[in-house]
Amino acid sequence: MIACTNNQKDQANRAKVEIFFLHLNPPKFHKINQMKLSKISAAFLFLLLFPLWSTSQNENTDLSMIYRIKQEGLKNSSIEDLAFWLTDFIGPRLTGSTGNNRGNEWAKKKMEELGFQNVRIEAARDFSRGGWDNLKTYAAITAPYYTNFACNPVAWTGSTKGIVKGDVVLLDVKSDSDLVKFKGKVSGKIVLMPSTATYEISYEPLASRLTDAQLKDISMSTTSPRRRSNVDFATISAQRALRLKIAEFLNVEGAAVILNNSGSYNVPRSTGANYTSGAKEPIAELNIPNEDYSRMERLIRHKVPVEMEVEIQNKFFDSPAVFNVIGELPGTDKLLKNEVVLLGAHIDSWHGGTGAADNASGCVVMLEALRILKNLDIAPRRTIRVALWGGEEQGLNGSRGYVEKYLVDPKTKEHKPDFDKFAGYFNMDNGSGKYRGIYMQENELVRPIFEEWLKPFADMGTSTIALRNTSGTDHLSFDAVGLPGFQFIQDEIEYGRGYHTTMDTYERLVMADLKHNAVITASSVYNAAMRNAKLPAKPVMKPKPETAPKLP
Ligand SMILES: [Zn+2]
Repeated sequence: MIACTNNQKDQANRAKVEIFFLHLNPPKFHKINQMKLSKISAAFLFLLLFPLWSTSQNENTDLSMIYRIKQEGLKNSSIEDLAFWLTDFIGPRLTGSTGNNRGNEWAKKKMEELGFQNVRIEAARDFSRGGWDNLKTYAAITAPYYTNFACNPVAWTGSTKGIVKGDVVLLDVKSDSDLVKFKGKVSGKIVLMPSTATYEISYEPLASRLTDAQLKDISMSTTSPRRRSNVDFATISAQRALRLKIAEFLNVEGAAVILNNSGSYNVPRSTGANYTSGAKEPIAELNIPNEDYSRMERLIRHKVPVEMEVEIQNKFFDSPAVFNVIGELPGTDKLLKNEVVLLGAHIDSWHGGTGAADNASGCVVMLEALRILKNLDIAPRRTIRVALWGGEEQGLNGSRGYVEKYLVDPKTKEHKPDFDKFAGYFNMDNGSGKYRGIYMQENELVRPIFEEWLKPFADMGTSTIALRNTSGTDHLSFDAVGLPGFQFIQDEIEYGRGYHTTMDTYERLVMADLKHNAVITASSVYNAAMRNAKLPAKPVMKPKPETAPKLP
């Protein structure tokens, strides 16, 4: 706790304690009666505890600035405009695709227009999969009757040779020994992959907000909120192994197209093949909605032949790196201007839809937060830097690359010069929902600070502080090297049905929530840039001693 207090105040408090000791006169001390003694003890205790108590009082939140941030962010917002350009206009932004590059160029130009400084697109990491664009996708059933349906190609899979027409083969395989039955039967065919997914009617509302009881649970629990499903890892790894065997078999046999069930998604899911640039192009592959998959499966099981026509054209090209787009408002304090408060979100998306909730929403909130501060002509003591990360969906590549480039050597683990100038990171990547509080990422030292920072937003529904961590996105890159990186607690809204599917479009965005989030992000990074000390990192613990018995 001490680490996050105002140093000067601490010194002043220590001085008060020393003065108190000087005023005690030891020879006369025995004459002091019990009443006086207890008063002195109380005063002494107060002075000892004052630095702790004052920790939460010392944030000196500038309420007039918070007022101005709220006014600018809620009444003069650019959120709708930014959201339109990044989703409808730019389109999907799969890592390494033309759309990803278009998005990066747009973001750079927008940052320059908004007056941010040191704006750049910089390579963060090598990208082994390379560039991939979908140029054409068409799929329809032609027998027993004509019907078209929505579908999404699997990224980094190949093209069909023109239009493929013919029988659909249901690959009814439960283990690799069943594959023998299909030898010589799938060459040039459209193959329906085995699936155990069934459609469950949902009685849940499409969108939801966190209730007071749920927020209380989050604030008191230590487990991650998004990891509640009863995943059977043994089954999953067995299914994965079978899929690899099937892929090998279909490759050898020369299937023309592979069709996957999108599982519980009744819209096509967007996924990607584990492809390495320069390798042989995988067989053309489509994800189709559960309902369309199941209709074909039932027809085939009833011995009704199903015919389809499919045409897919994809383009593979060189795209050897993941890029981040970076801009900043430079610091102005002589001593602190080289310290950096970072805010960010990933700009890459999957290729279905326009990556709106995941994660144009985070990008426009971060851009808008910095626009607000720029527009208010603030003079931040520390530099405030925004980063739109690339390659998050394939493993946090952009943010990990940034850490490797500026903060910690990936091989030696030695700290780079910017490590000690890192003053905190704020991330958004849980959809379009309103901020309801913040996760401390198990860093108890920031509790009194965040409590103070969120006070002006309590009446707007944002006051929950949760000790636990939240996983799965770019703040982890900083947390992993012992730096303070955080994510906010967000209402889920329609995240479940929207993300990673063709439905992740502008419609998934709740503009009022995004404006709210931009205001709180702006205020948080402003506070982090203005306070005397950097946000405290978690104390470093000694590594656990080796407990395994030593071999003689
Ligand atoms: Zn995301």
